[in-house]
Amino acid sequence: MRVPFYRPSITEREIDEVVTCLRSGWLTTGPATRAFEEEFAAYVGARHAVAVNSCTAALHLSLEALGVERGDLVLVPTMTFAATAEVVRYFDAIPVFVDCDATQCIDVEAARRTLHQLASGQRVFGVPATHGPVRAIIPMHYAGQMADVHAVRALAIEHRIAVVEDAAHTLPAFTRAGADGPWQSVGTTADVTCFSFYANKCITTGEGGMAVTNDTTTAERMRLMSLHGMSKDAWKRFTAAGSWYYEVVAPGFKYNLTDIAAAMGRAQLARADELWSARQHLAAAYRRGLADVPGLELPTEHPDRRHSWHLFSIRLDLGVWKQGRDAFIEHLKKRGVGSSVHWMPLHMQPYYRDTYGLRPDDFPVSAALWPRLVSLPLFPTMSTEDVAFVIDAIRSMSG
Ligand SMILES: *Cc1c(COP(=O)(O)O)cnc(C)c1O
Repeated sequence: MRVPFYRPSITEREIDEVVTCLRSGWLTTGPATRAFEEEFAAYVGARHAVAVNSCTAALHLSLEALGVERGDLVLVPTMTFAATAEVVRYFDAIPVFVDCDATQCIDVEAARRTLHQLASGQRVFGVPATHGPVRAIIPMHYAGQMADVHAVRALAIEHRIAVVEDAAHTLPAFTRAGADGPWQSVGTTADVTCFSFYANKCITTGEGGMAVTNDTTTAERMRLMSLHGMSKDAWKRFTAAGSWYYEVVAPGFKYNLTDIAAAMGRAQLARADELWSARQHLAAAYRRGLADVPGLELPTEHPDRRHSWHLFSIRLDLGVWKQGRDAFIEHLKKRGVGSSVHWMPLHMQPYYRDTYGLRPDDFPVSAALWPRLVSLPLFPTMSTEDVAFVIDAIRSMSG
């Protein structure tokens, strides 16, 4: 028996949709992409959705539409994937790292302190002496549990900065401001929210992404820039009323999604709740099965958030697991269990460390977490026997 880290859930429904697209004669951005955008916007309850070929592209287009320029500052969690910070560098702007809290999402109090230090001219780790204004903050929803977006919103209003959420792990997910507050879906709590349809994300198109916003001007700018900055009329080329004529009004990018991918995305979106329900069930099985294993910290679940369960990331107590995280992963591998690590904090990665002169202890919570993190297999087609197999592999180590 073997349990891989991830395997996508593809049914006849996805296959049929893709085959229908292939037979239709229209492969690139067209009717399936438009339908996918409308269905996605409706699913999260937002006004506009712009389909693109990755979440990284969505993040890039968001910052472009919000006016980020060379030398500007953008607050980014250090506990995140490379994409969240690299898009800031695309503008020659500066990512200002922020530590994480117990949910491994951005620590909003730390972000508040950083903004205060910047406003009062104090030194902030990694920020050069001359720089532009702070433009935005990019909370990332670790493992599929939303960051404290209510506190982020309050901070953003106070400092007049934009909020772009990196929701690559998150579909569906909800948050409320308190036990009495209404549940709000991910995709409705930021200026722009960016989703990923990479192969192992909550829903997949192989590669793909979506930028979601309620602001029409932002949506139009992202749409324009997603396809070479070709004027709106250019999109009519994709309809029956299409024409050969277009105008280039900005130096845009090539980020549009294909109809082949969108066809798959529509089938996956229709199954998003079913896929979530399977993952949630498996996460609960892990929680029950691992509760009494000494030296394991299980994911922290906030009562006012509904988790997407993209990842089941545990933390080892290294006082108990003396052989360390790498040996833990090696042992799982020998037992036929795949696992991963999310993530080495970005401020410890050579590029950011060397470019901005950062030391591990500049962001001590993330730095201390890094050697303790292990993400266990979690995907919708896993069986409860698979979960039991992983738990057995872990128990066989704990002696
Ligand atoms: C996967 C991921 C991305 C990038 O998504 P792509 O669709 O591969 O560009 C961005 N941020 C986080 C947190 C991710 O996990």
